[in-house]
Amino acid sequence: MCGIIGYAGKNQAAPFILDGLAKLEYRGYDSAGVAVVGSDGNLAIEKCKGRLQVLKDKTQGGELIKGSVGIGHTRWATHGEPSDINAHPHISMNGKVALVHNGIIENYIDLKKTLSENGYEFKSDTDTEVVADILDFYYKGNPLETIQKVIKMLRGSYTLVIIFEGITDRIYSVRKNTPLIAGLGKTGNFVASDIAALVSHTKDMYLLEDDEIAEVSSEKINIYDINLNPIKKDIFKVDWDINSAEKEGYDHFMLKEIHEQPRAVRDTISSRIDENNEIILDNINLDYDYLKDVDRVYILGCGSAYYVGTAAKYAIEKSCGIPVEVDLASEFRYRFGENIRKMNPNFKGAKRESRVNKNTLVILISQSGETADTIAALREVKKYGARTLSIVNVVGSTIARESDDVIYTRAGQEVAVATTKALTSQLSVVFLLAEYMARKMGFVPDADLLDALKKIPEQIEELNKSEGKIKSYAERFKAAEVAFFLGRGIDYPVALEGALKLKETAYIHAEAYAAGELKHGPISLIEDGTLVIAVATQDDLYEKMISNIQEVKSRGAQVLIITNEGNDSAEEAGDIVYYVPKTHQLLTPLLSVIPLQQFGYYSAVMRGCDVDKPRNLAKSVVVE
Ligand code: GLU
Repeated sequence: MCGIIGYAGKNQAAPFILDGLAKLEYRGYDSAGVAVVGSDGNLAIEKCKGRLQVLKDKTQGGELIKGSVGIGHTRWATHGEPSDINAHPHISMNGKVALVHNGIIENYIDLKKTLSENGYEFKSDTDTEVVADILDFYYKGNPLETIQKVIKMLRGSYTLVIIFEGITDRIYSVRKNTPLIAGLGKTGNFVASDIAALVSHTKDMYLLEDDEIAEVSSEKINIYDINLNPIKKDIFKVDWDINSAEKEGYDHFMLKEIHEQPRAVRDTISSRIDENNEIILDNINLDYDYLKDVDRVYILGCGSAYYVGTAAKYAIEKSCGIPVEVDLASEFRYRFGENIRKMNPNFKGAKRESRVNKNTLVILISQSGETADTIAALREVKKYGARTLSIVNVVGSTIARESDDVIYTRAGQEVAVATTKALTSQLSVVFLLAEYMARKMGFVPDADLLDALKKIPEQIEELNKSEGKIKSYAERFKAAEVAFFLGRGIDYPVALEGALKLKETAYIHAEAYAAGELKHGPISLIEDGTLVIAVATQDDLYEKMISNIQEVKSRGAQVLIITNEGNDSAEEAGDIVYYVPKTHQLLTPLLSVIPLQQFGYYSAVMRGCDVDKPRNLAKSVVVE
């Protein structure tokens, strides 16, 4: 789930590993650890609960543990509380094997039972320690054969990096359902769970697939399939800018990334709209022949990506007239499992075997491209012949590789756990995609939309300049314990995202409602002073929104209205009105979400929260 790094080289491993783990801190974690094989072949481990700095202090920046081969981990606990003992690396009872693990071993209880029957005892509460012990149990001197045997016994998700007592020059790594990359360096070679850990050392990487085993020494990286046949892989050249991992003068990555949005959106759209306002979508070929038969679109994602999907639903239904269903990947994957009811084979009428079939287009949205539930949903719909198109930020990630088509957002590395620039980049892609599909399907092109889209980066720039206003609102409401966000139409997903930002960064209980729903229950929670943030940018729904605002106002709410320039009548309805520049009606989320991101950010700062690494959260959610 969190960060993994391994090194085999000519230099000391531990300082290198601690440096790599620092690059992975943004993912959120609760403990950290490092293990090396000393030149005498013995395994040495240091690990502890809390920040990486504690581990650095304990090991004098890694200087105290000597050895040129090692592994490191930042843990995000799934099995067993965050503690020194549960932190990784875990060493087997007999001291022969040490490893780090991302993910979850689903059958660890059964495995633990078998090991107990064979005399093994366990120190930690983790699922991970069990893997170290089974490796130990089967290890007779051949690491590759042992790993091959053991991974056939494991169920669940794992990236494992393993060192063996007495093997002083290499590490081993394998993955299933969670990411693993290997990097070729000058003074050694590496593995990691995330490109960010390695990008300052090398741009040449191998992307490993499930069940592939990497054997990494300072000279070379050998990769094997599950039958231990060597595999030849192409080198993947990473084109990331190293600066994206630095704060560059901003107090937090989240603020830096809010400010990077004009660039991120511009990079995402500019090469995809030519001077004649034609849309060019990389190698995507959603042509008329295919689209004419598409009878349903599913959009799947988790968290903010799901809200982007909700905005995309409005855009695709309005532009293309195809019914769109948006679902949480974690729910959808089980609704569309193998257990779909079978047709009676003798039935004479039309066969309906699954609502997902070759006429279904499934759009998957994920920043990391490694979101476990979204990967699972992708694999599920492919079984039914659906065409899959993903919108992903990380090049070469699992979702990108496994879907039929991919449109990359070009947001660059997003470090803060709370998404900002990846979200606006995703929004810009879905609006572009809706227009692209509509044109292919014979609808009259909406040239205004593209002109408006091209102006969005400078309009976000303007909003960033006036962030002082939002900061003052955050100051005014910093003691709020609860907030309601309201919106109608495409303003509703913006309200959802605004509420999520406030929850995850400032720990204020925030709820978003489609404004028409308020009367059906939640309005009973409004009392004197309750904070309500209303997004009202849709011309055709504006008056309805104003009525809903009056309803909460007359029950004592303090209302902040986000609306378009020119909607002066909002001044009478709300306590504070914040104006966003005018744009095409479909594109308003790209602007109205900015003040809500700023509000989340400044509220978190004023409440003294750990803005970039909110408690309990991880950057990319690779467990279910
Ligand atoms: N399941 C393991 C544990 O709880 C690994 C967690 C992780 O991915 O960080 O220790």
